[in-house]
Amino acid sequence: MSECIFCMVAKGEIPSKMVFEDDELIAFDDIAPQGPVHTLIIPKQHYANMSDDVPEELLGRLFAAASRVAQLKGIEESGYRVIVNSGADASQTVHHLHIHVIGGKPMSHGMVNFSDRS
Ligand code: 5GP
Ligand code: ZN
Repeated sequence: MSECIFCMVAKGEIPSKMVFEDDELIAFDDIAPQGPVHTLIIPKQHYANMSDDVPEELLGRLFAAASRVAQLKGIEESGYRVIVNSGADASQTVHHLHIHVIGGKPMSHGMVNFSDRS
């Protein structure tokens, strides 16, 4: 899966602004941040999305890592949003499972923006 950009990030083949790394996960800043803090967390192993038979323990580790990112970025108290886009209707663009952690400024209420595409 060497053509997958997040596999390449995980292997250090594409430079990224690392937030933390452990044996199974890597967290790095999004290249096009949607807020003052926008960090992505990925498993080092390739899974396409939430429905790709991801082990429950790994899902737990990914979400635990979201609060760790918030702590490292100093937004634990102010709050943050955790988003996973999974599949076509969610407009997932990189098909390697990832969690967005976004914060650092107040966000509007709600989270669903439907496009006009049908
Ligand atoms: P998605 O829409 O799939 O949930 O989000 C993919 C995210 O990956 C986007 O926010 C996009 O800015 C980010 N992204 C795409 N390519 C790269 C890259 O090469 N490096 C980094 N750090 N982020 C990327
Ligand atoms: Zn991948």
